[in-house]
Amino acid sequence: MKELIVKELLNADRVLVVGHIMPDGDDISSVLSLSIALKKLGKEVVSGIDWKIPWIFEDLEEVEEIVDYERFKEMNFEPDLMVVVDVSSRDRIGDFKELIGKIKTAVVDHHTTHDHFTDIWWVDPSYGACAQMIYKINKELGVKYDERLATINLMGVLTDTGFLRFPNADERAYRDATELVSLGGKPYKISQMILENKRLEQFKLFAEVLENLKIELDGLLAYSYVSQEMYKKHGCTDEDSSGFVNEIRSIKGVEVAVMFLEIKPGLVHVSMRSKEWFDLAEFAKKIGGGGHPRAAGATVEGKKVEDVVKEVVPLLRQEIEKELKR
Ligand code: 5GP
Ligand code: MN
Repeated sequence: MKELIVKELLNADRVLVVGHIMPDGDDISSVLSLSIALKKLGKEVVSGIDWKIPWIFEDLEEVEEIVDYERFKEMNFEPDLMVVVDVSSRDRIGDFKELIGKIKTAVVDHHTTHDHFTDIWWVDPSYGACAQMIYKINKELGVKYDERLATINLMGVLTDTGFLRFPNADERAYRDATELVSLGGKPYKISQMILENKRLEQFKLFAEVLENLKIELDGLLAYSYVSQEMYKKHGCTDEDSSGFVNEIRSIKGVEVAVMFLEIKPGLVHVSMRSKEWFDLAEFAKKIGGGGHPRAAGATVEGKKVEDVVKEVVPLLRQEIEKELKR
């Protein structure tokens, strides 16, 4: 419950705020917005994400303060509360999961596939972005917003709602975004950083992705992949390909888009998007992942990307066909 989390935050002196591996805009926004707010209240705060922060977010100087688990251990920081944000299950926080059970842990999350791995939680999938939940908490904590905090908080609201155009961009998302703009948030700074900051290498890699694109089920299902060789050939990493799945969903008539990303040898990330009716959160659970109805993912270890495609596509095809017959 939100009230309990607010109370725990007010009582704590040293707080560790943790986000998820393969962090996205909403996750980084949620971690930083809560961390900055707690610092404003005079608390000692450490922000943790056990993954490399994608280069696109490096324009935000605040991300420099985010530590991975190894650096966190070196700090000898002893938090009296850990708050995990935008995370649906314990396997999504990397090695910070070691702390669950040892430190009092609370979670703030908006995933429909949330699996309640902590004692204290506020989980509400009706929020388009976790950053909106953090905004609500910060308001209740009485935190004063300035341009930096408002812009960073707004980043999560904008990125998880596709810049206020996905079905989760409801009246509350528009209202929260408007309030954050009133508090000094600068949406153009976020759109420049996220949308107008692409490397030419990304376009070249995407061109190859389009050459390999498969379209099935009368245009409803579209998928492609990036292998390790393709990343290397174009001088790219998985940080460069996170937007590809949205591009593929934007093809006329496509309901379900999937990108199979071989982010490291033996590690394939399955990134999925739907447009109107197919429930990907349900499907992602079937293949060991999770997420939201219109954006979900899973991670498969120990297999080559081609093999993951061969395994997942027939299952997905079958589920889409089942839905069509309903
Ligand atoms: P993306 O495709 O952008 O990586 O992820 C879309 C959504 O699916 C995000 O909300 C993310 O939390 C969720 N997701 C992605 N990968 C995984 C995964 O491996 N496990 C779980 N449980 N959720 C995932
Ligand atoms: Mn999120």
